[in-house]
Amino acid sequence: MASSTLFQSSPFSLNTNTKPYSLPISTKPIHFTVKSQSQSQPQPLTQNNTPTPSPSPSSKLRRPADENIRDEARRKNVSQHLFSAKYVPFNADPSSTESYSLDEIVYRSQSGDLLDVQHDLTALKKFDGAYWRNLFDSRVGKTTWPYGSGVWSKKEWVLPEIDDDDIVSAFEGNSNLFWAERFGKQFLGMNELWVKHCGISHTGSFKDLGMTVLVSQVNRLRKMNRPVVGVGCASTGDTSAALSAYCASAGIPSIVFLPANRISIAQLVQPIANGAFVLSIDTDFDGCMQLIREVTAELPIYLANSLNSLRLEGQKTAAIEILQQFDWQVPDWVIVPGGNLGNIYAFYKGFQMCKELGLVDRIPRLVCAQAANANPLYLYFKSGWKEFKPVRAQTTFASAIQIGDPVSIDRAVHALRSCNGIVEEATEEELMDAMAQADSTGMFTCPHTGVALTALFKLRNSGVIKPTDRTVVVSTAHGLKFTQSKIEYHSKGIKDLACQFANPPMQVKADFGSVMDVLSKYLQSKAPRYH
Ligand SMILES: *Cc1c(COP(=O)(O)O)cnc(C)c1O
Repeated sequence: MASSTLFQSSPFSLNTNTKPYSLPISTKPIHFTVKSQSQSQPQPLTQNNTPTPSPSPSSKLRRPADENIRDEARRKNVSQHLFSAKYVPFNADPSSTESYSLDEIVYRSQSGDLLDVQHDLTALKKFDGAYWRNLFDSRVGKTTWPYGSGVWSKKEWVLPEIDDDDIVSAFEGNSNLFWAERFGKQFLGMNELWVKHCGISHTGSFKDLGMTVLVSQVNRLRKMNRPVVGVGCASTGDTSAALSAYCASAGIPSIVFLPANRISIAQLVQPIANGAFVLSIDTDFDGCMQLIREVTAELPIYLANSLNSLRLEGQKTAAIEILQQFDWQVPDWVIVPGGNLGNIYAFYKGFQMCKELGLVDRIPRLVCAQAANANPLYLYFKSGWKEFKPVRAQTTFASAIQIGDPVSIDRAVHALRSCNGIVEEATEEELMDAMAQADSTGMFTCPHTGVALTALFKLRNSGVIKPTDRTVVVSTAHGLKFTQSKIEYHSKGIKDLACQFANPPMQVKADFGSVMDVLSKYLQSKAPRYH
């Protein structure tokens, strides 16, 4: 007898309308400290083309009390900048001369367009592809500050001019590229299916990759005495979690605007635990977004929302990392779930830089996967890129991509058109089933990953993706952030969904006979499949 009563004893409601948590607004000021850090000369790279070798294991057993890995990085660096980057309007006309220093506080171009971080490729090209491959490979998985981070191991391509000492990092990145052997074989007949687990990360989503870059730059601006007292965002999910963690780690105040009574405990707990100043405002998400824009125009609060192009510089390192993990062989397909559409562009930019700088000779075809309930890019793609219309996003379990009017639409279209990309969509039933199927093979995926897996199912069924194509599905968040939707699915408690892969717990009496009974039935049902 299947039963959901076990679930019901959990503190979470099975109702899709998550019990609202109303947040008392504290009147106490945030307490924070900014550690004093001495000034130092930055340096990304030594000139003799080799990374500085680490001391041999026996050369130093214990650090002196007054030295840490930041100090060590400072000592080793030589003081000459080789590389640089600046803000330019995204996809600007070649004749445009508009540009801004990364040390300016600017979010949009003069004409209100998106900005892009443009690197000095001429300087980077003075070193060949083999040089960059070796340099990046030499840094993987070490504790050397800051290169132990998957993002900062590509520092010269990310924020070349920042002082190592200003970097705020949790050694993010270097995430698992998982060979989905059983899922690929059983459900898709594929032998080269891989899942890039970007959600197995400091705060449980890929947002960490971008936030380390944004908060590091803010840390630098504060040390330069620029007027940045805190960093703010309006977000109900992964962005506020990442922002508050990185700010807390650097002692920078973070301010999060959340819509009152529309937020589950799971969505609230990360910024609260990390000491963010959480404002619970009696409006919806768009209302919060509007308010924080107005407020940041008046107050010295740096805006960490998704049009900020610094974040994409960090996110693009996941693409470089994929190539690196395949020993610089290029996969055929990379599938990325998309909402505000910054990440799909970040992946393109990472791959494209690797091609341009000679690390690889081609780039993969990208697939952007959207929830059917929030699918403006999908509709645009289906129209042959004729007409873009924002949609009113409907509720979806893939809540981080429930966006009807994506900020980075132009970035996404540029990326997809440049790599012969494809857009797919997933209904609620498809994405929840795909998530459950992946979980049944030993993963623990989030609904957004379910959207990407659905795209893969569809492209395999139509023969676009071949059984032997090397394919990477990007998993964007940790499944543990989304236990509520999994509980609903496995309880078959979702309206209009069959939940065909549900695996609810069996309720059984506390006596030997009853337990033996259900176990022998279970083993019989499994016996023919023993190998
Ligand atoms: C932010 C986010 C996305 C969407 O990324 P975009 O850059 O907005 O397209 C997808 N999945 C998860 C889990 C996210 O947090």
